[in-house]
Amino acid sequence: MRIVGLEGTAWAASAALYDARTDEVNVETDAYEPDSGGIHPREAAEHMGNAVPEVVAAILDVAAESGESDAPDIDAVAFSRGPGLGPCLRVVGTAARALSQTLSVPLVGVNHMVAHLEIGRHRSGFDSPVCLNASGANAHLLGYHDGRYRVLGETMDTGVGNAIDKFTRHLGWSHPGGPKVETCARDGEYHDLPYVVKGMDFSFSGLTSAAKDAVDEGVPVADVCAGLQETVFAMLTEVSERALSLTGTDELVLGGGVAQNDRLREMLRSMCEQRGADFHAPEPRFLRDNAGMIAVLGAKMYAAGDTIAVEESAVDPNFRPDEVAVTWREGERS
Ligand code: ATP
Repeated sequence: MRIVGLEGTAWAASAALYDARTDEVNVETDAYEPDSGGIHPREAAEHMGNAVPEVVAAILDVAAESGESDAPDIDAVAFSRGPGLGPCLRVVGTAARALSQTLSVPLVGVNHMVAHLEIGRHRSGFDSPVCLNASGANAHLLGYHDGRYRVLGETMDTGVGNAIDKFTRHLGWSHPGGPKVETCARDGEYHDLPYVVKGMDFSFSGLTSAAKDAVDEGVPVADVCAGLQETVFAMLTEVSERALSLTGTDELVLGGGVAQNDRLREMLRSMCEQRGADFHAPEPRFLRDNAGMIAVLGAKMYAAGDTIAVEESAVDPNFRPDEVAVTWREGERS
């Protein structure tokens, strides 16, 4: 089975070809980079309009070269239905519908956050892990129960990457800020910032404001970066541990662009080692937004008969992971 995946929820115009026979994933991504400030939805959608035809053409070339006949040899087209920026989702949704009709193959509508989880489950071979999704616009813990991925804990305000990016915008640094904070924090001493965990949920907005104030008051930027990382990642690690304890699961996977951060992975790995749990973070190309994860989950959904009619395939900017009826796990390892 071969599936084309399309991703375009925010910054990554991305297409992928997943071959389930060989487990090979080819991904072509064209990133939107704002001239200044953060992601501007209209500019990002324009980027999708320009870049999606090119990444799709590149992936169709890969499909043609690797296919078993002159035909593209593609079984379905999977795409991110949400959550994400509406203007971007609409461009990519239109492209996916057009491609599925041109190839005369079914359409599969994928939840982007469940895809962040499933790529970790797929690459690790774990059975039923808890997943920490630490991405730009989101932050939550997911665990499977009774046919759905349940949100065990989540941010009460901004996504974790967005919180870091808001701090770096205040410094005048270019987007994305996360990698720059990671580099800068290596030269810093820990600076105390508010730690906000309430039950299974957490909050970043006060912390971001406090980090901005600290810089304005003259605390060295490297110290604030070090404090920001330690505080944010300790909050995520605490709630991840509690989610493992709550579910009785001994497997943790990580997803999302912030998961590219070495310090976050180190803290989670250490926590898992201390409680005898297994930890897996996919390689960076599958952590940040990418169409590979959409194609891989699309293949599982297609195999389960979970396709979608064009007239029902509207995108949903607020598509929550717990809205998805999980069709593809039956018959797998339970
Ligand atoms: P979502 O998946 O919720 O739609 P998104 O579309 O913003 O989020 P992702 O690719 O998952 O995209 O994550 C992008 C975020 O990852 C940005 O906020 C960026 O600053 C952050 N990021 C990237 N690399 C690092 C790093 N090394 N350390 C911390 N944050 C990072």
